[in-house]
Parts: sequence; structure tokens; C-alpha cells
Amino acid sequence: MNKYHRERLARLMPNGKPRWIRVYDNGEKSYDRYTVVFTGNYDKDIPGYGKSYQYVGMSSSPSHPQGFCQHGECPHIIDWPTYGHLGKKIRFEDLPEDCQKVVISDYRHLWKLCDVCGVSGAKFYESPYKWLCKEHKPQ
Ligand SMILES: [Zn+2]
Repeated sequence: MNKYHRERLARLMPNGKPRWIRVYDNGEKSYDRYTVVFTGNYDKDIPGYGKSYQYVGMSSSPSHPQGFCQHGECPHIIDWPTYGHLGKKIRFEDLPEDCQKVVISDYRHLWKLCDVCGVSGAKFYESPYKWLCKEHKPQ
């Protein structure tokens, strides 16, 4: 990573945590307990994600077979002007670890960071349909 990409990554992921998200918890053990809204000026026309504002709803174990993880998009951002329908605001680090993994993976995709290692300056590959750095690009 050159200086530009190091600084870009430090802005996008200070202390390894996604900066441009808002996280909500509705407090119930419902299938869609957690909602994460992707904010900031990412490219709204990204391969595989459509042309609008992204969010993801999750249960506390989104990768479990009985868990829940649903990506959504909307022409407007879903937590403005009101977010009461989503629950209360929590911090990224308050999310269960499984949910954090989903969010980081989505965030990397939206901000064009390497899917494997998270560095800035990745390129998009149709197969395996991911942003990947030089080191992790397909052979
Ligand atoms: Zn990489």
C-alpha cells in the first residue's frame, strides 16, 4: 500500500473499525434484531449491490443455518429522518462477533477494499466477484 492508500484505509477503518456505518439494536430476540446502515460517500453503483443505499439486517448469529442475514437497498437512506423503527443506536463493538464479520465484509466490498486482507487499492475481479489486492488476486 502506498501513502495514499494507507491514509485512505486509516480514515475508513480507524482502529480496524468501520467508520461509515450506523448500528441499531431493537433489543428483541427477533430474526432481524440488528440493523447496520452503510453511510458515507461510497460508490452507490457497485457490482452486485445495485444503485442505492445499503443496509443489512441480522439476527445475533447471521452465519448460523437458523440465523438470519438479509441485505437490502433503498433509494433513500433508511435511518433518516427517523430511526426509531430500527431500535436504539449501539456501537460496532457491541455487535456479536458474527455480525461484525458480516459488516466488515460488506464494508470492504462497498469501499473497494481487499476482501481477504482489507487493504485499500484493490481491483475488482468478476470471478470470484470480489475486490482483491495484488497479493490476493486470482492466479
Ligand atoms: Zn489482500
